[in-house]
Amino acid sequence: MIRTRFAPSPTGSLHVGNARIAVLNWLFTRRHEGCFVLRIEDTDTDRNVAGAEAGIRDDLLWLGVDWDEGPVRGGAFGPYRQSERAASYHRYAARLRDAGQAYRCFCTGESADEGVERRERCACAALDDAATAERSAAEPHTLRFRVPSEQTIAIEDAVRGRVEFASREIADFVLLRSDARPTYNFAVVVDDIEMRISHVIRGVGHLSNTPRQVLLFDALEAPRPVFAHVPMVLGSDRQKLSKRHGAAGMAEYRAQGYHPDGLLNYLSLLSWSSPSGEDVLTRRQLIEEISLDRIGVADAMFDPAKLSWLSAKHIERMPLDELVEAVKPFVDRSRFHLDDAKLSAAVAATRTHYATFADVNEQLAAFFASDRVQVGERTVVDAASRVLSGVPQWSEDALRAAIKEIGAVSGRKGRALYEPLRLALTGREHGPPLPAVLFVQGRERVLESLQTAAATGDAAG
Ligand code: GLU
Repeated sequence: MIRTRFAPSPTGSLHVGNARIAVLNWLFTRRHEGCFVLRIEDTDTDRNVAGAEAGIRDDLLWLGVDWDEGPVRGGAFGPYRQSERAASYHRYAARLRDAGQAYRCFCTGESADEGVERRERCACAALDDAATAERSAAEPHTLRFRVPSEQTIAIEDAVRGRVEFASREIADFVLLRSDARPTYNFAVVVDDIEMRISHVIRGVGHLSNTPRQVLLFDALEAPRPVFAHVPMVLGSDRQKLSKRHGAAGMAEYRAQGYHPDGLLNYLSLLSWSSPSGEDVLTRRQLIEEISLDRIGVADAMFDPAKLSWLSAKHIERMPLDELVEAVKPFVDRSRFHLDDAKLSAAVAATRTHYATFADVNEQLAAFFASDRVQVGERTVVDAASRVLSGVPQWSEDALRAAIKEIGAVSGRKGRALYEPLRLALTGREHGPPLPAVLFVQGRERVLESLQTAAATGDAAG
């Protein structure tokens, strides 16, 4: 069974780079009907940000990326949290120590720091059990892994092929810090073993950690997972992706009204493409078509225009009632007071013009008069006032018929009919279809606008 994990640190919201990793893991798992695990890597307590875990969960669920396992919390599964798994890390640490594959290190200062690569193995590596047992009760110490001295560590990476590392370039690294917290490399391996992770799909930035992790899998006699290190996402100038490239966090995209399927689609395309050459892919198609073989080694370039375009395409494909529900929370209530029927008519008339749900306000504005007062053309305006005040039922069908009648009464047709009407109602020469404009504005408002237009015409004339 395919088992994958997404393992964010709770240091902030989900950004394009790590959301893409989550999406890849999730699609791949769904493709193979496997199990997808969410694991919060929160052992680096100084860097944890309050609320970040909840934000990550919300972001994932908004993308439709759900997980299958974990301790039950509030009636739902997961996530796993490393901070709750200390017992496991200590059990595995004891195993390595008992087998002589790890040793207690009493060095203090810089060389004790897990971040500093030591060139020389320290004397602690040679201390015997009795000596270390005694000292460890009294002195702070770390636990270090004894890296084999001359070994080629070969990794068959599903994306990059065979990658080799020389163990002589890897210093004995820390497994447990002096406060007994596990380091990243150690916790990840223990978790991946205990959670029976079959595929580790993550950013290429972690490739350099992989030899250490592989040494630990081997030392613990656990099967290595398949590793797939996917290339980076860069800005258009090939620099590290940031806000100035137009990239935002998932929470911002959500707030800006992007279609989550547009994001899912775009984040997928940042890593692989469909054999069909088709760009706009549904959730189902993405699941059916994902394959690690299709992930290349070249870095991807973030393109905000393409993301908007995909969001627009997914919005265009939504059933009308779903789209209306989706735009509702974005309608600026201080500007527009529309009942469901009017909102629905306005959305139906403009539905191919949305890149985000928030575009609804710009689209609605086109239905209403601009600040520019327009001189109405008397003949058409008068005929419209007369016909429209008598329309029995204010529906788009009835209004379509009424416009014909206005034509007949005024003796105008085509542009000579539509343009003055449109100008009188919206102050613009172009816009949504007239029956929709009339319906959305409502009778009262329409008659008012026509009156204003007539009065302005008089004043001007
Ligand atoms: N916590 C790591 C990160 O956020 C992920 C580690 C991994 O996938 O192995 O980059």
